[in-house]
Amino acid sequence: MKLRVFGRVQGVGFRPFVYRLAVSLDLKGYVLNSSKGVEILIQGDTSSIEKFIEDLFHEAPPLSVIDRIEKEYVKSEPYSDFTIKKSRKEEGFVFISPDIAVCEDCLLEMRDPKDRRYRYPFINCTNCGPRYTIIEDIPYDRPKTTMKKFKMCKLCEEEYHNPLSRRFHAQPNSCFDCGPSLWIDGLETKDIFKEISELLKNGKILAIKGLGGFHIACDATDKEVVSQLRERKKRPHKPFALMMKDMDMVRRYCYVSEKEERILKSPQSPIVLLKIKELKDIVENVAPQNKYLGVMLPYTPYHYLMFDYIDFPIVMTSANISDEPIIKDNEDAKKNLGHIVDFYVMHDRDIKHRVDDSVVFVENGVFQIIRRSRGYAPDPVKLPIKVRPALALGPELKNTFTLAKDDIAIPSPHIGDLKNKETLDVFEETINEYIKLFKIEPEVVISDMHPAYMTSQIAENLKTYVEVIEIQHHRAHIFSLMLDNGYTGDIIGFSFDGTGYGDDGKVWGGEVFTGDINGLDRVFHFEYFPIAGGDSAIQHPGRIALSYFFEFMPHLAKKIEHRFTPFEIEAIEKMVKAKKVFYTSSLGRIFDLVAGILGIMDKITYEAQAAIYLEMLAMESDTEKVYPFVLKDDEIRIRPMIEAIFNDMNRGMDRAFISRRFHNTIVKIIHDTACMLREKTYINTLGFSGGVFQNRLLLHLLMEKFKEHDFAILLHKNVPPNDGGVSLGQLVMAKY
Ligand code: ZN
Ligand code: ZN
Ligand code: FE
Repeated sequence: MKLRVFGRVQGVGFRPFVYRLAVSLDLKGYVLNSSKGVEILIQGDTSSIEKFIEDLFHEAPPLSVIDRIEKEYVKSEPYSDFTIKKSRKEEGFVFISPDIAVCEDCLLEMRDPKDRRYRYPFINCTNCGPRYTIIEDIPYDRPKTTMKKFKMCKLCEEEYHNPLSRRFHAQPNSCFDCGPSLWIDGLETKDIFKEISELLKNGKILAIKGLGGFHIACDATDKEVVSQLRERKKRPHKPFALMMKDMDMVRRYCYVSEKEERILKSPQSPIVLLKIKELKDIVENVAPQNKYLGVMLPYTPYHYLMFDYIDFPIVMTSANISDEPIIKDNEDAKKNLGHIVDFYVMHDRDIKHRVDDSVVFVENGVFQIIRRSRGYAPDPVKLPIKVRPALALGPELKNTFTLAKDDIAIPSPHIGDLKNKETLDVFEETINEYIKLFKIEPEVVISDMHPAYMTSQIAENLKTYVEVIEIQHHRAHIFSLMLDNGYTGDIIGFSFDGTGYGDDGKVWGGEVFTGDINGLDRVFHFEYFPIAGGDSAIQHPGRIALSYFFEFMPHLAKKIEHRFTPFEIEAIEKMVKAKKVFYTSSLGRIFDLVAGILGIMDKITYEAQAAIYLEMLAMESDTEKVYPFVLKDDEIRIRPMIEAIFNDMNRGMDRAFISRRFHNTIVKIIHDTACMLREKTYINTLGFSGGVFQNRLLLHLLMEKFKEHDFAILLHKNVPPNDGGVSLGQLVMAKY
């Protein structure tokens, strides 16, 4: 009998597992990797074959994911034994495993002075180590990885060919004698890890090459070096992620639930946003005004070796220049990071595909992914619909694309904001790599409706070769949520974010839809309000408040005028009066508006900063009060709320109280809209998507509020609620 196993079955120790299973059941035949999956031919008595198939499902290696098994009865010559045959190339696509944090077994060996890999910085096995980042082509075999330049020594070679070894066909297999090495550029040293710790202790900033690119590292307890890093990186406020030695260290600073601990220690080993218990010696400037810290544990063997000498948390932020893609090559690092770092820790295992660290959080026990990259990409998402071979380009910020065929979608890792040439180049390069690796030749390309997005221009250029279809941004968010949940039925979808191009050419971002996978009708939206001054206004929450007041409540504009220069006031008033503004229904901008009224910050330096600060403030109050608002026709009207917020502020109410009351109001708006729509449409399923739902307080309050109701609630599972998830949703346009 011939079996074809589809799914993530390569690079995860699947063939040795099949080999051992077949031998234990006294079956004959072979197993091989093809570019479609794993092919097995088995001969033997029927009951053993049945047992074999059963165990194939239930005993499969921890990192494998079996999508399906096809059986076929074939006539074949009798085999006298069971063997692992050479890989074969065929049409079709196979899943590629993401990169995996070093496993327990390897760590034990690395700690064993008698082991030949004692303190070897690149130890790995079929259960751990680099995968996607080193693959140049499929089938996944050593000559098609960046490990091809390292010729295995005799001992490694033996392991590699021994089906009973933990390193059987572990493509990155290596040791001190034959594998990659680690060094500090321009520094001779006996113990490199001791040296790294000395440099960090002495306030140096280091570039450290990881699995998917370089990190920039420094001592997170050294005030001076953290400010220096902020200055050099021109990143005044955006939080830095930290790497901590172990769970003891994490618990010293943060609250950690069982689930969060499991995720921290998982093979994906992402950055987990943890609630701060006490900062202690960590400098506040690591995550200014934030109540959460982004924390990850060591995930490569050499991270562990570094922490042998380090007993403080270190900043580990992606090495890039102002939001460009993460730097992955040694030469690029030296060329581009010179003004930021003092030393380079490099290795010579080349990174073929870059991946950033993934970022996740757990709220009310629910896992949410914010940035999907290392450890998760390029895992597929199984679709509840069938699609034509398609490429969905995503929107613009925090962008990903998704390649898909039939019921399989493969979202790319996080690529970044497509605002400069470097990011765009990486975007296009990654698309080409994906098409090559997964052997999906798109027949249709889907892009956002926004005429000015880079992705729209890419789509425009492709029009001569393939069919191009556009989709409205906020519908794509809700479709993304549905596909992410394997759901195609009726839904009331709340699509709340910062910006997206609407059907009517206005800037949407506070939209409520009803419908199903075949179409979504916009049934509610926040009342449009004007923003004067284009993109730069978005960086100045105060100006958003001023243009709002000029339009709707001129008497209040007078009362905040003292915060602006005469030039600003005149310019904004003129633009509002002449309607030289853009109109928006964005809830993200309403957060800015509220922050602007409260005078919380003059200028933001990273996306959603004002909203995040409001969320942090709101956590300090426990009021249950709400502000007034009106639901009329298809509009959510918040003028009464805005006026009341101003009055609260004028009366000297605490900003934490106002922020919390504002959050409560948004929850009430969602609640009332949902109930009203359910009465009208009998739809009982609610969905939340869009960047606003990264607001954990809002998410928490929503989940608490809806506990008393019998709505079914959909939240994201595999892709982010922010624009990083949009490309998945765009795929509905390729539905058969
Ligand atoms: Zn391992
Ligand atoms: Zn070796
Ligand atoms: Fe969006």
